[in-house]
Amino acid sequence: MGKIWNHNKIAYGGDYNPEQWPEEVWEEDMRCFKLAGIDIVTLNVFSWASLQKDDEVYDFERLDKIIKLCTENDLKICLATSTGAHPAWMARKYPEILRTDFDGRKHKFGGRHNSCPNSPVYRRYSSLLAYKLSERYKDNKNIIAWHVSNEYGGDCYCENCEKAFRVWLKDRYKTIDEVNKAWNMSFWGHTLYDFDDVVAPSNISEHFPLFGRDRTQFQSISIDYRRFMTESIVDCYKLERDEIRKNTPDIPVTTNLMGFYPVLDYRKFAKEMEFISWDNYPSPHETPAEIAICHELMKGLKSGQSFCLMEQTPSVTNWQPFNKLKRPNEMRLLSYQAVAHGSDSVMFFQMRRSIGACEKYHGAVIDHAGRTDTRVFREITALGDELKKLGDITLGARSKARAAIIYDWENRWGIEYSAGPSILIDYRREVTNYYEVFHKNNIACDLIGPDEDFSKYDLIIAPILYMVKGDMGERLEKYVAEGGVFATTYFSGYVEEHDLVTGAYPGKLKDLLGIWVEESDALPEGEKNSFTRDGKTYEASILLDLIHTEGAEVLSSYNEDFYAGTPMFTVNSFGKGKAYYIGCSSDKEFYKDFVLELCEKADISKELSNYEGLEAVSRYNDSGSEILFLLNHNKSELTVKLHADMTDAINKTEYKKGQEVTFGPRDVMIFSINE
Ligand SMILES: [Zn+2]
Repeated sequence: MGKIWNHNKIAYGGDYNPEQWPEEVWEEDMRCFKLAGIDIVTLNVFSWASLQKDDEVYDFERLDKIIKLCTENDLKICLATSTGAHPAWMARKYPEILRTDFDGRKHKFGGRHNSCPNSPVYRRYSSLLAYKLSERYKDNKNIIAWHVSNEYGGDCYCENCEKAFRVWLKDRYKTIDEVNKAWNMSFWGHTLYDFDDVVAPSNISEHFPLFGRDRTQFQSISIDYRRFMTESIVDCYKLERDEIRKNTPDIPVTTNLMGFYPVLDYRKFAKEMEFISWDNYPSPHETPAEIAICHELMKGLKSGQSFCLMEQTPSVTNWQPFNKLKRPNEMRLLSYQAVAHGSDSVMFFQMRRSIGACEKYHGAVIDHAGRTDTRVFREITALGDELKKLGDITLGARSKARAAIIYDWENRWGIEYSAGPSILIDYRREVTNYYEVFHKNNIACDLIGPDEDFSKYDLIIAPILYMVKGDMGERLEKYVAEGGVFATTYFSGYVEEHDLVTGAYPGKLKDLLGIWVEESDALPEGEKNSFTRDGKTYEASILLDLIHTEGAEVLSSYNEDFYAGTPMFTVNSFGKGKAYYIGCSSDKEFYKDFVLELCEKADISKELSNYEGLEAVSRYNDSGSEILFLLNHNKSELTVKLHADMTDAINKTEYKKGQEVTFGPRDVMIFSINE
């Protein structure tokens, strides 16, 4: 199981940028950190400009001082490599490191995520810096993790990338004929004669200029470009990581991810990361389930290993249209929600609020006022105190979910690039619709990738499984044949990994589901049909499949229109298991009834499901003991009857089964369940 890093409690701290401040401020920072119980800082995230002044000239003097100061103050250090933004001199001297955007415009110096991932100069200097940093600080025992770059993102369409794309294709497909086949290039006379004919799919080639990024004329090319771009950026990460490993093979390396960020396939990153870290910035309107699913997605990247909450704001963000304050207790609630779902840290962006540029109004542990007698600082201090008392009991602890939902980035690209059948198809929304029922009923549910071992689960739901890659169809058949319960939906099983249609829908899932889909009706926004089951009528919307059964049992049919009476909801017995198909999007009532029915079929029980706004999550540590997190998301009090004997993990108060506990608004309690 194991911990993510060498620390004996939940790490508490965040991004600290003392290089933006004169040294006299640093001592005051140390005083504040001590007061607040801060024990980790992420250093050096954006310092490349000061560390390297020219090709040959490096200057680590200021960083030496900062690291020395933090070490003397017993702070653990998550040391970043600074390569998330390149220095101005490098852009001036080597314009090849600048990105070319989707519209074909060569960028100038500025912003961040600004380096071309296929630039040999960027790759050389970023990995060299990672080497120099790890060599210089390899003996510092306070450094417990390496943080490569920062929030990798975006893409590049420059000539270097185009050339590298051709090499990538050659490696993957060997011949140009295979490329033509995979991309169906006989359409519109696109046949390529040579790898040199390949161009990057952008707004000046395959994308519809009016629709931009979302609409491509050749989905296969655009999907392959995203795969290539992900791998290019992962390669940049690996180059730095490998340099670091030469000097500090025992210190884990990570980079901070961003939840459902759509552009990069995080499963490819996860394979190369020692542990997952990510930045949680929910909008004010996001529900607890919408936040929880992000944690589950991130945790699922490494099959349930605990992760690091690398960034969250203690109070406000600055980049949303409305930057609402976190209400009293909300920072604590969201911090413990992250821990409940697998985080071994509570970390903030930022420790001290900068005075200039675009993040100066982003919340911080130490605000512009520089005071410790503020609401935010008091809440931070109180949480710091609690985390000390909580100690190490949650570190490395895992969930024991028996249900899982499949989420796949390439599948999302296929759905979002698809020209038709409906722009209303929303993969993330549909996945969340199903997840919300698990969350609301406090039933553990993992978010897994298509390559995960399915046999760990009794129930798997794959909403809109449009792209069925490789042997996934066979693996799902095996899973159900051996007794698994599986459910999928409309717009599933259409294509293989190159976005080529594999015959009658749902393609490779046809035998498993015992159906075929003759037509699909994409209803415009606001238009609905309906279906009835067990006396209850539910809404049918977005895309309505007209199904023929071939062995499956019909659970419901449409009520209206020319296809009234046509099946849309089926179940097929396959081996020892069952495979369900839901041929449309529906309403919350349907998702609730259906998911709970599936849980019952799979014999998945639920505790503490009858409280509105109560989130109950369990983690199990090495010895198998259960740690239960109870989070009251309500703005009012909530009284909960405990279902077992348990001990408050913070103040050690003991509770008996059946005893009632009252939670304040947005309150959280953490319990050790007594054996
Ligand atoms: Zn490029």
